[in-house]
Amino acid sequence: MEKFSNINETLGMSSQFVKGVGPSRQILLERLGIHNVEDLLMHYPRGYYDRSNMTKICDIEVNSEITFKGVILVASLRKLRGGKTILRAAVGDETGRINLVFFNQPFLKQRFRQGDKVIVSGMVNLYRGEKQITAPECEFYSDDFEKEFIHTGRIVPVYPLTAGISQRMMRKIIKAALEKCKGGIEENMPVSLINSMNFPGREKAFWDIHYPPAFNYLDEAVRRLKFEEVFFIHLLLKKRRKKIREMNLRPKISPPYNFLKKFLHSLPFELTDAQKKVLYEIREDLESGKGLGRLLQGDVGSGKTIVGLASMIMAVDNGYQAAMMVPTEILARQHFEKTKAYLRDLPINVQFLIGAVKKTAKEKIYSDLELGNIDIIIGTQALIQEGISYKQLGLAVIDEQHRFGVKQRASLGKKNELPHFLVMTATPIPRSLAQIVYGDLKLSIIDKMPFGRREVKTKIVKENDRNKCYSFAREYFKKGMQAFLVSPLVEDSDKSDLKAAVSEFEKLQRDVFPDFPLGLLHGRMSYEEKSKAVEMFAKGEISALVTTTVIEVGLDIPNASLLIINNPERYGLAQLHQLRGRIGRGGNGGVCYLIPGEDISVSSLKRLNFFANTNDGFEVAEKDLQLRGPGEIWGLRQSGYPVFRLLNPISDNAIVTRSWEESDKLLEADPALREQENRVVANYFRLYYKPKMEIAEIG
Ligand code: ADP
Ligand code: MG
Repeated sequence: MEKFSNINETLGMSSQFVKGVGPSRQILLERLGIHNVEDLLMHYPRGYYDRSNMTKICDIEVNSEITFKGVILVASLRKLRGGKTILRAAVGDETGRINLVFFNQPFLKQRFRQGDKVIVSGMVNLYRGEKQITAPECEFYSDDFEKEFIHTGRIVPVYPLTAGISQRMMRKIIKAALEKCKGGIEENMPVSLINSMNFPGREKAFWDIHYPPAFNYLDEAVRRLKFEEVFFIHLLLKKRRKKIREMNLRPKISPPYNFLKKFLHSLPFELTDAQKKVLYEIREDLESGKGLGRLLQGDVGSGKTIVGLASMIMAVDNGYQAAMMVPTEILARQHFEKTKAYLRDLPINVQFLIGAVKKTAKEKIYSDLELGNIDIIIGTQALIQEGISYKQLGLAVIDEQHRFGVKQRASLGKKNELPHFLVMTATPIPRSLAQIVYGDLKLSIIDKMPFGRREVKTKIVKENDRNKCYSFAREYFKKGMQAFLVSPLVEDSDKSDLKAAVSEFEKLQRDVFPDFPLGLLHGRMSYEEKSKAVEMFAKGEISALVTTTVIEVGLDIPNASLLIINNPERYGLAQLHQLRGRIGRGGNGGVCYLIPGEDISVSSLKRLNFFANTNDGFEVAEKDLQLRGPGEIWGLRQSGYPVFRLLNPISDNAIVTRSWEESDKLLEADPALREQENRVVANYFRLYYKPKMEIAEIG
């Protein structure tokens, strides 16, 4: 029987029962994501003031931050015109005296009682030749009891706040939470692990991160708490993977692959060695009985779609259904059209589902999926809407995975029946991050391009030379080649932006390219309008698409070989690389012109220069990570995991790797976490960790 001490239960207790909180402040704390006592303990400081070094008054220097102890000698409040006030208090120690000044805080007067002891921290300035300290932080004390300072006289925490809760208030509340749990915060990791890692205990770590006796204590606390943040994610991912394997939820796939053979034969090209290798890895997983859960990574244009499609056909060969989910309607349409064409001569029913499909047609698709009449379905997030069920979904492919969260991947499955998973992305992911975001997936890489690395030349062009770009474009158009002209315009619902896109299009058509037909494509157009524009472009009926970032992912128009991007400085590097990936796909190379705004900053220009000098998606992604951090790019925030408060999955990769190893060891030795020493892990998991997860399990 498991037993919990009462104190341990306080961690899960609503934070309103902590001294100094109460129902009304609790409402404010909720805004900071603080619901229970543990959340309070995990409301870590965003920084610290070092107020631990005491000075004597005689040693105080102007323009320095100091802390000293003294006795209040005298205090006086002066009222000025307009209701303003000045409070002056003289404080002395055995070496001298100094004035403290407070503006417009008359209520402080009653705190400055002659003879009381005070500890003061602040910045020293000079006023009429005398040293004084304006608006210092003060903490009063008496010698009767050993007071523990929380605002001064030590290393002092500085917390993220919300309106209505002051810094001092927050310090008091968190101190009270620590006191409330004193002596009773249970461990959540096995003692042997804590010892071998040389970690402080959990309770000590909480005290030390809020009130470190010295900075080295803080470092140790942070090291442990960071480890915790990733350790439980790893345990969760691994338990999930194991459970899926053991329950044999995924269907068995095996030869013969008659459709697949015919499909591969009908392709106008042969698969590259890289594609073959990856397809083989996928096939091995499918047939192994353990199931396929893979991340397929390959630079833009490396030919991931065919691999995804081939995998789907293997499922169909075994009588299962397969689904491919993509982030945009245009991309869904494109994949659908191509797939239909490839499978023209095979008895495979391919269908298409996006939000814009009419109600009656949608209902037909729903029922055909349920009856098993549809073999392959390609669509957007419409595929994971409530109410869709498959007869037997064997494989789910997710394209451009980096645009979805982990949650969405999870929701493609069905209770007690899981499809195989293949997720594809062009944006390479550092290993430590993959162990978090994709910790339950294996990695396959397409490391060669179909035609060798495409020669896309990238040039930064000054605004003055814009017309030269346009002349160049005209030459292209004359030869029957096509272009994308990108402006960072619409996307959001802003009407003026919309107007700008339309007028940019009209201006280009009328003034710049009167003799070539242009098309317009932006995010505010209806699905029909969008697909019409793309279709005309694909057929070569228009020379250029004037567009926004809606073309960013996946679009594959082999004849497009020129790309002009206005204001490229407004995009992230990975996004620019995706944009650039739209051209040069026919194997004939391409040219990309970047026309930054004239007010571009030096650092932005440097960034663009870096981009212009590499075609390598991996290098670009790495730089992007350095510049923007992982949260932005990988949607960690939407991932469904509890947020990282301390850990940076990139720079703390050593911690991530160690956690990966330790979680392996632990689960190998005791898969159910039943051994006495490991129970604390299971308990913590169940009581505190799981309730914080948005997704508990797949399926
Ligand atoms: P991405 O990896 O960016 O999704 P796609 O799957 O869209 O790339 O492929 C890019 C282009 O290369 C497509 O036009 C596709 O038909 C073509 N392609 C894919 N594989 C090969 C191959 N083995 N040989 C020649 N062309 C290929
Ligand atoms: Mg693609």
